[in-house]
Amino acid sequence: MVPFTMTIDVHSHCWRFPEDFSADFIRQAQRARGGQPVDLRVRFEDYAASAPPDTRTIVFGGKARLSGVWVDDRLVADYVAAHPDRLIGFLSVDPTQDGWERELRAGREELGLRGIKLLPMYAGFSMDDARLDPLWRYAEQHALPVLLHAGTTFIAQAPLAFTLPRLIEPVALKFPGVKIILAHLGHPYEAECLVTIRKHDNVFADVSALHYRPFQLYHSLMLAQEYGVWPKLLFGTDYPFTTVNASIAGLRALNDMLEGTKLPRLDVNQIEALIQRDSLKLLGLEK
Ligand SMILES: [Zn+2]
Repeated sequence: MVPFTMTIDVHSHCWRFPEDFSADFIRQAQRARGGQPVDLRVRFEDYAASAPPDTRTIVFGGKARLSGVWVDDRLVADYVAAHPDRLIGFLSVDPTQDGWERELRAGREELGLRGIKLLPMYAGFSMDDARLDPLWRYAEQHALPVLLHAGTTFIAQAPLAFTLPRLIEPVALKFPGVKIILAHLGHPYEAECLVTIRKHDNVFADVSALHYRPFQLYHSLMLAQEYGVWPKLLFGTDYPFTTVNASIAGLRALNDMLEGTKLPRLDVNQIEALIQRDSLKLLGLEK
């Protein structure tokens, strides 16, 4: 059997910048970067140039009225249609806004999108809000994986109370047929995220957008190692915030900072397995 040696990025974005963001969102993003201007433009050519040639990618926009981001799912569908051998598109809904159930159906039935991205904290709803039961039922019925932003953000009006990884637990129990991915290891609630994915077979976590905090990522992956949940971690980037190559290099460099210490090392075989995890198969998205 030929071993699987492809990189799957389960967390990448597609949007129009700055058109799909409010001025307040952009101002707060700049504040988080110490006043540096932000450029979140997305171009497939840039993405592909900073990734191994055979990378396959899950891409979505995002909808969260409260925080000032709204990406039409048609943009995602068009992006995927231009590179169908490389990209898999997810739809997005904001369940605090009228029309979300129609957008849910249209995303799958009219645009051919194959999973769902939710932004609970950014949009201001709890992961376990009962209003979402029809969404989880629809996802279960049509085998749509659901990826949720988990962990913090720089946006002031986005409530921390709605982003704790443990909030997915009642959903995971009620809808065991839905594959759920908690993004960003739920940072800075990584420990809570890891014990959640450990308990529930249908819940995974992605490691996107973490390599620029190397000590925190080392510590989190060491926790994953000690809890024995490496196989539940999926590779992701959060492009355009970073790239595939930078994310891989960041993971491979984590043990370097331990030089000269007796601190425990991350298992390098597990790091490589994470980088080459067949996440599409785990999520039921292989063709
Ligand atoms: Zn993201």
